[in-house]
Amino acid sequence: MNGLSLDGRVAMITGAASGIGLAVAGAFGRNGAKIGLLDNRAEKVEEATLNLRAEGIEVEPLVADVSKADQVESATEQLAERFGHIDIVHANAGINGVWARIEDITPEEFDETIAVNLRGSFLTIKYAVPFLKRQGGSVLLTSSVNGTRIFSNTGATPYSCSKAGQVAMAKMLAVELGQFGIRVNAICPGYFPSDIHQTTKRKSEKPVREQAHYPGGARPLKSEATTEQVGDLALFLVSDMAKHITGEVVYIDAGVSLVIG
Ligand code: NAD
Repeated sequence: MNGLSLDGRVAMITGAASGIGLAVAGAFGRNGAKIGLLDNRAEKVEEATLNLRAEGIEVEPLVADVSKADQVESATEQLAERFGHIDIVHANAGINGVWARIEDITPEEFDETIAVNLRGSFLTIKYAVPFLKRQGGSVLLTSSVNGTRIFSNTGATPYSCSKAGQVAMAKMLAVELGQFGIRVNAICPGYFPSDIHQTTKRKSEKPVREQAHYPGGARPLKSEATTEQVGDLALFLVSDMAKHITGEVVYIDAGVSLVIG
């Protein structure tokens, strides 16, 4: 068995019906994990479950809204009941929400982004931890370059605050849960093609602030971004290859956030 093998482990991944979460579910599943595939879009959950099962991956579909405590709690219990234990949790579900000038963001819009991205991460981890404590495990959060290294996407204030909060959560919980053999890390992707970009609610056709132009390009590495690359990073971080790594934040953005701040 190599150090990347997740044989015998059960992984719950939120926002797993598309994009990064789906790529993570595939990477974990192909390396032996049984998957709890959680998302709030029931049809997408069904489609993703069928596709992963066709590859021979064991999947428990979980339809839940990560911002709702009762739904997350019962989905977590459903997964533990199905496979007997939970070893890995990836709080990945997220929305871009409203990108606008602060005067144009309603209190409800601010709350919605925080509820899904930050409260959702809290609930996902909170209800899984009692199961992880039984044998130890690994927690991952999908944060972002926005709010941690990039502050120039003016208008993305609720999103960036939620993503900064996830990094604080990862570090706080790494310290709290280390004694139970639970590692907690965050990943910060740059741009990856996914559904999330279509759902951004912009209140103005024009960007809130003109973007700076980088004549030589702002991407030090010229490789094309694919969600599978994030799946590979997540696999490494939850695997035994990373067993001495906790409380860390790993960027996966071709170096862009080193150029654009
Ligand atoms: P995506 O839209 O393809 O996937 C997000 C998934 O989360 C969707 O399937 C959606 O249905 C689900 N979801 C949304 N709200 C939910 C809720 N309340 N409860 C349960 N599930 C919910 O987008 P993605 O790009 O794969 O995003 C995944 C994560 O990666 C997000 O946290 C996002 O902020 C982060 N991220 C993405 C990028 C990027 O460029 N794609 C960059 C940095 C960070």
